[in-house]
Amino acid sequence: MSWPESETDGSGALLFVNAAQVVTCAGPGRARTGAELRDAVVRNGVAVAVQGEAVVAVDAQDLLERRFPEAERVDCDGRLLTPGLVDSHTHAVFGRPRWDEQEQRALGADYMEIARRGGGIHASVRDLRERGEDELTALAAARLSRLASYGVTTVEVKSGYGLSIDSELRTLRVIARLARELPMRVVPTWLGAHEIPLEHRERAGGREEYVELLVNEMLPAVAAERLARFADVFCERGVYTPEESRRVLGAAREAGLLLKLHADELSPSGGAELAGELGATSADHLAGVSDAGIAALARAGTVATLLPGTMLFLGKTAQAPARRLVDAGVPVALATDFNPGTSPTVNFPLILTLGVSQLRLSAAEAFIAATVNGAAALALADRVGQLAPGYSADLALWDAEDLRELPYWYGDRRCLRTWTRGKTCYR
Ligand SMILES: [Zn+2]
Repeated sequence: MSWPESETDGSGALLFVNAAQVVTCAGPGRARTGAELRDAVVRNGVAVAVQGEAVVAVDAQDLLERRFPEAERVDCDGRLLTPGLVDSHTHAVFGRPRWDEQEQRALGADYMEIARRGGGIHASVRDLRERGEDELTALAAARLSRLASYGVTTVEVKSGYGLSIDSELRTLRVIARLARELPMRVVPTWLGAHEIPLEHRERAGGREEYVELLVNEMLPAVAAERLARFADVFCERGVYTPEESRRVLGAAREAGLLLKLHADELSPSGGAELAGELGATSADHLAGVSDAGIAALARAGTVATLLPGTMLFLGKTAQAPARRLVDAGVPVALATDFNPGTSPTVNFPLILTLGVSQLRLSAAEAFIAATVNGAAALALADRVGQLAPGYSADLALWDAEDLRELPYWYGDRRCLRTWTRGKTCYR
């Protein structure tokens, strides 16, 4: 296989030729639902032309070779070419990994019990508050580079291990630096309402005080520095109630942010209903979603972002009801939930495997959930997630010949190379 070296500045035209299959996901630039999820649009004998940062044509190879005689050729050598994966849910900025908790869980402590002992999110909060911006940036950059090596070209990154004005702003500045310095596209989300910090949780009135601090101080500071595109709240029994979540997200919407919710992760808590009511861009997790919650998501067109790796890692047998969500007309996305406590994986193709084997999606459904609908969960579906004219030139080349191999070779890293905005992202 020969790779031209000089195309990496992204300024000239590139022509991707000799792919076994080109999966385009071409179609409407919005979230896909129902039968629209069944066809990832697999094409044979076509090439992809890129000019600068955008795809300009997907057409018969001989035709494009005549149309772009000056373009530099990228020889795909009989491999699979697809849009880059969109990981729309991660908590990639953290310090110490929490491998000790996995064993505690195996020996009988559950997630909420570990949290009550001061472990879980609180352990990551104590740890992050001690670390500076440079150190957190370096740690996250290394971890996101690993994520990129699995085919991801767009990633959402949340704050939420600071839980104070100072440390949440520091986390969001780290995410802004990652967005500037990494080749992949990085979308920032403010998750100041990830937990109630211990200094507020453990005294009377502290909880209400923290919600007021979120709304009246932290959020205005985040908005003033334009540090986040989305606001997210962990709406779950034992964390934020639907009323508290409504208050925080309502204020965030007023401040111009788009909305996400961690909803119904472990049990039905009214999170999906609230996401629908607020017109949230996505509701994430949903293993415990109610029928009313599913109906609310369908009505609002809110993307249901499913995170099957989390349930696998936590040792749960329950998974989100993906088929019922699809049948109800809810747009379904898949993501890694990469985080130090409950889903320490950067292997997005493994999430495709779980999407097929655990959630009972077809390979095409899982793939659209990881591209077009992942982009929709980030309000980017009109420019990311497809190989079609006008879309960002975000591509992944795989050591495979057929789309169905991506979920099939489970745990393997088949990604050979990626491009974001027409420039090399991973090789
Ligand atoms: Zn999460």
